[in-house]
Amino acid sequence: MQSIEEIRRNTWEYIVIGTGVGGATAGYALARAGRSVLFLEKGHALFDRHDALRGRYPELELPPGAPPLATPGHAPLLALGGRFFDEIEDQGNRFVPFLGCGTGGSSALYGMAMERFFPADFEPRKSFPVDVGASLPDAWPIAYDDLSPFYAQAEGLYRVRGQPDPLRPGHPDLLPPRKPSAPNAELSAHFGSKGLHPYRLPLACEAVADCQCCQGYLCDHDCKNDAARICLEPAIRNHGARLLDACEVVRLEATADEVSEVICHHGGQTFGLRAARVILAAGALGSPALLLRSKNDHWPRGLANGSGLVGRNLMRHCVDLYLVFTRASGPSPMKELAFSDLYQFAGTKLGTVQSFGMLPPAPILMATVGKELHDAAPWLSPLFNLVRPIAGAALAALLRRGVLLAAIMEDLPYADNRITPGPPLGIQYRLHDPDRIRLATFRKQVGQALKPYRYLPLHQAEKNTMLAHACGTCRFGDDPASSVLDRFNRAHEVDNLYVVDGSFFPSSAGTNPALTIAANALRVAERLLRP
Ligand SMILES: Cc1cc2nc3c(=O)[nH]c(=O)nc-3n(C[C@H](O)[C@H](O)[C@H](O)COP(=O)(O)OP(=O)(O)OC[C@H]3O[C@@H](n4cnc5c(N)ncnc54)[C@H](O)[C@@H]3O)c2cc1C
Repeated sequence: MQSIEEIRRNTWEYIVIGTGVGGATAGYALARAGRSVLFLEKGHALFDRHDALRGRYPELELPPGAPPLATPGHAPLLALGGRFFDEIEDQGNRFVPFLGCGTGGSSALYGMAMERFFPADFEPRKSFPVDVGASLPDAWPIAYDDLSPFYAQAEGLYRVRGQPDPLRPGHPDLLPPRKPSAPNAELSAHFGSKGLHPYRLPLACEAVADCQCCQGYLCDHDCKNDAARICLEPAIRNHGARLLDACEVVRLEATADEVSEVICHHGGQTFGLRAARVILAAGALGSPALLLRSKNDHWPRGLANGSGLVGRNLMRHCVDLYLVFTRASGPSPMKELAFSDLYQFAGTKLGTVQSFGMLPPAPILMATVGKELHDAAPWLSPLFNLVRPIAGAALAALLRRGVLLAAIMEDLPYADNRITPGPPLGIQYRLHDPDRIRLATFRKQVGQALKPYRYLPLHQAEKNTMLAHACGTCRFGDDPASSVLDRFNRAHEVDNLYVVDGSFFPSSAGTNPALTIAANALRVAERLLRP
């Protein structure tokens, strides 16, 4: 085992910044092939800590009625739950986004839906023939067929189980899904009877009897196939990779054409580390922030930012929830069901409808509502606090009776939607009219699909706090004037710098991002390993 001093003296073949799906998957593929890999992760090595908060939300450690977790006070608690622990800013409003920070990144919290994008997603402009004013490229620099073999590899690696979507080409070789819950089986039959094409949502999950899906918190059953369990831990255990956790990269030093040093804070010290190649995977907020903060004389607008596009074109998906009251009852925590009949609709693209799994427990939701109300209309807070216990109990009862579906709509890239590096890190994001129009259509069509069920729409698509699917802020493309990365995710202008997290997407597609991030990381690693 090397000491920190030895790690510092070494020149690594690869330093990977961030251990989410992008970083851990790429680093694993490189370490497996015998390359020397050092992972740097801002959060904790959660698999190593007996005090990590598993199987429950960190919020439940607070007394009943407490406001939502906030920083700096609750940062240690958030970190032990694998959660992002810095506040970010959105037009003066500060909040801690619900994202992962720790080994596995957001995948340590994710709902495990591992969906391929559609072939049409790789030619986005064709789905939006009317001018939508977005910076939507005609095509991604790679086609679906380029990614298809890596999708298959990623599905195998993450042990994805489910059924192929009947509306997509090809038949991915997936592990068999578990038996669906009674409410989801009923919903599936309902959608089928309406001429829709439901299928079993592909999940990166082991078939464990009492699996709770653990969306939003760390799994305590060893069934969530996240990036830490599937890639990072094996890379360390079996392939000699090293990890420095609680290590925040604060800056990349660079010459005119390469990164020369990775500067980090770790254990109360600031020091530089060196690698032949640097793989940046700090997430769609973290990666552009780091590049923008790494200004120097060669890079006055931020590292690798000749295009001016680093941090721009932020997308986050428009996600609404629907609580559907089925006849069958019983617990249905798992994501089990999806249909993509509304993916392409009336000449445009909407998105997918799928099981959401579980919302956080009612007291956590009530605390969030309380904070939002306090921010918007403080004079209503006392009244809210009065009715809160009764309202919380009613909400808990409602949530027990219904099944949650999510409608995930593609939001388009607009250059004015972006991150600002701060500090504090900020976002500027607004839904543009073409997105709002499609959202209205999507809502109407989902309502039609659910009829005659009673359902409660929980519209959240407009909320900027919903950043779980953030992407797009370092887009790839063939033209250095209109993209940050080339088709192999190498920064156009910086020879030894690659960005492999969700920030590379030039468009967000209308479904879950994790499988595409993983498949692409494998594709980039394969390229790096070519002689
Ligand atoms: C609750 C939740 C549920 C989700 N469910 C699904 C789902 O079912 N299916 C799906 O496809 N997607 C889902 N997602 C989204 C999915 O998890 C993310 O899109 C994906 O994991 C992003 O991976 P990434 O590699 O881009 O970055 P991240 O997961 O964000 O990883 C970035 C990592 O970099 C680290 N980091 C950041 N800055 C620094 C720094 N300066 N120095 C060192 N390290 C740094 C972070 O701590 C983090 O670990 C969900 C997300 C959440 C939050």
